[in-house]
Amino acid sequence: MNASDTICAIATPPGEGGIGILRLSGDKALDIASLVFADTARRPVRDYLTHTLHHGELCAPDGRRIDDVLLAVMKAPRSYTGDDVVEFHCHGGPLILRLGLEALLQSGARLAEPGEFTKRAFLSGRLDLAQAEAVMDLITARTEAGLRVALEQLRGALSEELGRLRDGLVRLLVEVEAGIDFSDEDITFISAQGLTSGVMAARDRIAQLIRTAEDGRILREGVTVALVGRPNVGKSSLMNALAKADRAIVTAIPGTTRDVLEELVNVRGVPVRLLDTAGLRETLDVVEREGVRRSHDALARAELVLAVLDGSEPFCEEDRRLLESAKGKATVVVVNKSDQPTGLDLRTLPGITEKTRLVHTSAMTGAGLDDLRDAIRDAVLTQGLESREGLFITHLRHRGALERAETALDQVLRSIECGMAAECVAADLRGAVNALGEIIGATTTDDILARIFKEFCIGK
Ligand code: GDP
Repeated sequence: MNASDTICAIATPPGEGGIGILRLSGDKALDIASLVFADTARRPVRDYLTHTLHHGELCAPDGRRIDDVLLAVMKAPRSYTGDDVVEFHCHGGPLILRLGLEALLQSGARLAEPGEFTKRAFLSGRLDLAQAEAVMDLITARTEAGLRVALEQLRGALSEELGRLRDGLVRLLVEVEAGIDFSDEDITFISAQGLTSGVMAARDRIAQLIRTAEDGRILREGVTVALVGRPNVGKSSLMNALAKADRAIVTAIPGTTRDVLEELVNVRGVPVRLLDTAGLRETLDVVEREGVRRSHDALARAELVLAVLDGSEPFCEEDRRLLESAKGKATVVVVNKSDQPTGLDLRTLPGITEKTRLVHTSAMTGAGLDDLRDAIRDAVLTQGLESREGLFITHLRHRGALERAETALDQVLRSIECGMAAECVAADLRGAVNALGEIIGATTTDDILARIFKEFCIGK
């Protein structure tokens, strides 16, 4: 893979659509575009003003016409990649796009690797690494809250914060190192106290960022929530009510929800993968037994359990076993069918305390569903969605680097306290600086880059 090649790809998803876009980027993009495109005046693409749109024909190098298209030209350095970029807005047919792509390949472009456009944007300094990752998060965001966090990161909010922290530590490092260079002359550049307070402030801010990581991960990746309960308590009805779609088939015959159904639902900004399990009850029926096995798997996979009870019936042995099976997991007890006369005495429920999250719902009338949504959000998020300045750590990679920086700074503080040599202090400070630099890509290996960009789609 050569960074000086001119690369091309289909940038829109497969299938038929209103438009389909071919993307071309690199030193030869303008010349290659001229080989496959002609407007009525037959002007070379190089003569177009940057950031302009042109109507014309897309043709194969042998002159065969492929499509009537719009060509957009964005000249270096004001383009996504920082190189010359040309985009062809074609009609969105798979054959058109394939022929157009072949025409570009025959004219001297190479097929882009996944994420290569964004990687070039990073290598040319248009985006730092955290911003490049945010591009992917933006594309895969499932809720508006997730989108907001990704946009903030793309805008550079996280990068700015980390840059400030890193600059502060670099300044401290410079002073400590100056102290080492002049150690014979008995000049002190920074007092132990000044150093300690600077390091402590940075460490506290880093710890604060790490605390947002769990919620950040949930915002980006979502959580898995399993609905468990004996047959007929209303699990499928609740799932449908939350998803506001009739996907799960609701029936009144016990044990008919045999498979595990999944639905991605937006609960107060949190992407929630809802699993509707068949009743986890003992059964002899083979098909149903398979369903029961799967629901045990679903339960194991879930980060939160919604234990559903029928509020119109007394608590029974089966309910007790279900609550038992959810033990050790975060649980919300859902007493459903609140539109019916009460038949359940909550005092008979084992292990119910003041702290138990318990909501009354009616999947039938919709009563209590808002309480259920709040209960789910509160159970999965530790800090709520309003992190102080809207900054969230959403990537495991970032969290790992922050944790290494935090450990290094703790070591610096211990070294100062024990009166260790300035060289030790400097080495750990440098460790923290480098760890922060990894997140924005100031200190990154090819290996890390390859791992990040292989997650991208081709054409991005
Ligand atoms: P599941 O087996 O736990 O998934 O239960 P279903 O969702 O299939 O519901 C079983 C039966 O209870 C269906 O006839 C539903 O219409 C009914 N049902 C579900 N929720 C409610 C509710 O809140 N109130 C009343 N009155 N009936 C409900």
